[in-house]
Amino acid sequence: MDYCKKLSIIESVFKMYEKTNNLLKIARECNTAVIAFICMDYVMARSVVYAAEKTNTPAIIMLYPEHVSVQHTTGLFNYATMVKELANEVSVPIGLHADHDYTYEAVKRSVDAGFESIMIDGSMYSLEENIAITKKIVSKVHGVGVFVEGEIGHIGLAETSDNYKEDLYTKPEAAKKFCDETGVDALAISIGNAHGEYKSIPRLDIERLKKIHEITDVPLVLHGGSGIPDDQLLVAFANGINKFNLGTEFLKKYYSAIEDYIQYSKNDSNPVKVIEMPQYVQSKLQTYLEGRLRTLCRF
Ligand SMILES: [Zn+2]
Repeated sequence: MDYCKKLSIIESVFKMYEKTNNLLKIARECNTAVIAFICMDYVMARSVVYAAEKTNTPAIIMLYPEHVSVQHTTGLFNYATMVKELANEVSVPIGLHADHDYTYEAVKRSVDAGFESIMIDGSMYSLEENIAITKKIVSKVHGVGVFVEGEIGHIGLAETSDNYKEDLYTKPEAAKKFCDETGVDALAISIGNAHGEYKSIPRLDIERLKKIHEITDVPLVLHGGSGIPDDQLLVAFANGINKFNLGTEFLKKYYSAIEDYIQYSKNDSNPVKVIEMPQYVQSKLQTYLEGRLRTLCRF
């Protein structure tokens, strides 16, 4: 696909990074999903950008806000600036997104730092409370062009087998009410997916997905992507999932690439051999990422 031509129809592409809204519109037209990769640092983000460029496939770099508020390994502004600068090095569209903010104040900090795409996760509240907080955020940030992803149903944790708890799944009628009343731009849903490492192979509720897709009018988002078999993912992408979040699997690859480097360099007596580690790790990550982009995305 000629992205420049395609995007110019929707909106100007001549900006430092691409808006999530545009990326999801294209994914929707192509019946596929943009992969949003959780990136902890520069090496991960750079690997995504260059894998996207190599495969000519758009991608989103996503901050998990706990890396700011709990691990303190990055600052919001620094992260946003890093992604914009990296995105500017390549021709393929790269998005920037803040994952799982839980309060208006947290969203405001992300927006003030330069994120034009955020998630407000009110899924731990009642439907009415979730609608209220999401609606408030949409009304505050749409005016400054910020894209809002909400969550309905609750995407829990794989380690407590939440993916099997149907009472946490998204109800199609509630999803419609949520979209209608909040004006949200994208919707994260619970259909047998959960965050982290699954205990056994998950099975997505595709019939539920089809119903949600049928009665809502926004791109749907699948969290907890690590460990869901590719054949299920491709069916989900053809039925309304246009953004796919990948964290655990990518983080594991990162860790094992570092382990590989330590093994690879163990006989090297150079005391500053760590200097070459980012380049080594990036090449390993890029190989993995190019494979995921080629297998899963159909732009
Ligand atoms: Zn999530």
